[in-house]
Amino acid sequence: MAIYAGRMIDGRRTTRRGDLPSPGARRSRDSAGAVLRAVLDHGPIARSSVARATGLSPASVSGVVGSLLERGLVREVPEAAGPPGIGRPHVPLDLPGGGPAVIGVHIAVPRITVSLLDLRGRIVAQSTEPHGRTDPASVIAAVAALIAALRRRHASRRRILGLGVATGGWVDSPNGTIVEHPALGWRDVPIAAELAAVTGLPVRADTNSRALLRGELLFGDVAVRARESAVHLFVGNVVDVAFATGGAVHQGPRSASGAVAHLPVEGCREACSCGRVGCLQAAVSERVLIRRALADRLIDRPEIPALVEAAAAGSAGAVALLRERARLVGRAAALLLDLFDPEVLIVAEAGANQLPGSLAMLRAEIAARSSAGAGVDRVVCPSSFPGAVLAVAGGSVALDQVYASPLDLQAHLKAS
Ligand SMILES: [Zn+2]
Repeated sequence: MAIYAGRMIDGRRTTRRGDLPSPGARRSRDSAGAVLRAVLDHGPIARSSVARATGLSPASVSGVVGSLLERGLVREVPEAAGPPGIGRPHVPLDLPGGGPAVIGVHIAVPRITVSLLDLRGRIVAQSTEPHGRTDPASVIAAVAALIAALRRRHASRRRILGLGVATGGWVDSPNGTIVEHPALGWRDVPIAAELAAVTGLPVRADTNSRALLRGELLFGDVAVRARESAVHLFVGNVVDVAFATGGAVHQGPRSASGAVAHLPVEGCREACSCGRVGCLQAAVSERVLIRRALADRLIDRPEIPALVEAAAAGSAGAVALLRERARLVGRAAALLLDLFDPEVLIVAEAGANQLPGSLAMLRAEIAARSSAGAGVDRVVCPSSFPGAVLAVAGGSVALDQVYASPLDLQAHLKAS
């Protein structure tokens, strides 16, 4: 049946352009995000190639690039010598070398990590500090002090575009609230509002896995494949999962997606913070591993890098503890592979990310347990940020916002 614009067809009027809500500013923001992502992916890149990569008209690209140049989010780079020709020179665009940056905050069970990331997600500086007290007010005060010191030392001449927070538990990203972090004993902490008040920056918060997946989608080693569909599994003191399809991270109506902490694990007798016994998070959490490693005198400081170092140096006890963890993580990963059938499954776990033996154990367990056994070739481990996940996670939340709508940052940029 032919459709004629504006005519009645079968009693229904065809939708006209005027009936639709105006895309207005929203369209230009989305265009700016698309252009900035094209420069991230392909820069240095000519405006005409940006138009091809984004599907936008050359005129739209030109307008958006003007706005991005004004805000210092892209720069024009000297053109490589090419054949002499006539017509307007094509001055390629790239991201600024120094310039704008974001601040990342990671709140772990034992410590805080604060970092400065450039627009490519590279760590410019970072600092880490163990918690003194773990109540929200004390932690927020400590985070604010670390940020102030980081800005003084490394960012006095950089424009800070935003601040991202990553942590475990249940994070309501749209409201900027940590709904529940059982391991820290936190409930309904308005983290974004509190940190915005003390830093004057726009703040967004998310879970570890959703934060790291945003980083993987923007500038990870397998970003192109991950933008098709991806699952991210984070294993630290807390365990969580994130899922993205078509480049969009699924949040869920309550922002509660990805809670796998309490997946039952056979044979585990550890008590979990939920009151039950045998949950995945209890079986693989850093605290449990560190407690066992200290009891067996495998490490002399209570942190997971010490255990990884001991294993790398050949300690049989440390190797065994981390391989057992990798086996349990592999079991969870196999289930995720079957459940989501993603293009890539990214695993961020300290042992498998840094030790070949742990990685082999993880892969073997996934191959044995997944009914899509052949899917082990879709497992990406190490993740794109081995040894740096805590520094990258929070900043990725902020960068996700920058690349989603770079022109929205205008108000803050003018204020800074
Ligand atoms: Zn539990």
